[in-house]
Amino acid sequence: MNVVDIINKKRKKQEVTTEEISYVIKNYVDKKIPDYQMSALLMAIALNGMNERETVDLTTSMLHSGNQIDLRMIPGIKLDKHSTGGVGDKTTLILAPIVAATGINVAKMSGRGLGFTGGTIDKLESIPGFKTALTFDQFTKQISHIHVAVASGTKNLVPADKMMYALRDVTGTVESIPLIAASIMSKKLASGADKFVIDVKVGNGALMKNLEDAKKLAHLMVHIGRIHQKETICVLTNMNQPLGSAIGNALEVQESMDVLQGKGPMDITQLAIVLAIQMVRLGKNISEEEATEEVRKVLMTGMSYEKFKEWIQIQHGDLGKLTVSSKIVSIKSKQNGVISHIDTERLGELTRQLGAGRYTKEDVIDPTVGIKIEKKIGEFVISDEELAKVYVGEKDINVNDILECFTISEHFLDNEPLILDIIKD
Ligand code: URA
Repeated sequence: MNVVDIINKKRKKQEVTTEEISYVIKNYVDKKIPDYQMSALLMAIALNGMNERETVDLTTSMLHSGNQIDLRMIPGIKLDKHSTGGVGDKTTLILAPIVAATGINVAKMSGRGLGFTGGTIDKLESIPGFKTALTFDQFTKQISHIHVAVASGTKNLVPADKMMYALRDVTGTVESIPLIAASIMSKKLASGADKFVIDVKVGNGALMKNLEDAKKLAHLMVHIGRIHQKETICVLTNMNQPLGSAIGNALEVQESMDVLQGKGPMDITQLAIVLAIQMVRLGKNISEEEATEEVRKVLMTGMSYEKFKEWIQIQHGDLGKLTVSSKIVSIKSKQNGVISHIDTERLGELTRQLGAGRYTKEDVIDPTVGIKIEKKIGEFVISDEELAKVYVGEKDINVNDILECFTISEHFLDNEPLILDIIKD
């Protein structure tokens, strides 16, 4: 077999075989296929796509490129949740303790920030002392004991994805439906959980910019899950503005605690509840009404907030030492009107520039910095009223850039729905 022939086939929009896909992945991970040939193939896939069978084969080959976690020794169903990545998306921090408080095991391997989107591991590490590098033994014992553990992935879990993602990031091939589906599902399948709930973000702050593409991605991931006998539900959610008001690591942890205490922003609270209901429904094989009741109970009684504190403590985090920057700059509107658009990707990017994210793997994050949105789409604003607060650290940004992320119009707007669709088997 020859990699040039395989690249040429994809370039000519021809189908590649199971054996060809397996050959490419194996030899790329073994460093026998160089990055420049893999880049050419990834670009051909990004431009010409892959059919369902090819995408399933790509997922399976990537899954087999490294170790797979076996969680069968933990009694009961294990669930995992994933988000395709957004701005201000702290849902895992809220959802994991809610679901665990109902008695379901949440076994989650999480990642660090990618591009303009934040990562759960970076958010958790903003809590002083919080340990994300758990051994397999610590991970499984913790789940058996308190029903929740969130850890950074082990080195040899889907190495093909680590290598391909790094390459995609610098070759303009991130935004490809088959590549995203294979990347996410290979990692989910390797992580050992039994069932998955995936939050597919749609909008100007997401990889999927429109609902049609998001639906295609969701159907593909549900299909891949089915082939591997792992029930998968995709919830399509709006990412045309940041989720909640906080963007930035420690700020997002604070906001997650507010949500769990019933005093957080409406949108992130609603999203966490919708996703929690799906997870509880899957985990207990019960109806949506019964799952809603379980979620309501653990939130209302404060059980989920207690579970959050127990989880953070067991992973050595000290919430008493959580710090946000005390240098706060206020961004004020220069006009009266209604917020009609927020450039979410740009806000994510500016938060990264403040030091909340990385440009190279070696960059050190400043957990105390970020942006708090004070006005969201559809809200009125008057001249000189605050649109956002910037929590500044060592790196300054031009505050006018933040002002430009808000479009203010003279007209009323219809509310955009937060939950756009739910796709399941
Ligand atoms: N998240 C992933 O894990 N992989 C992708 O390709 C895109 C988003």
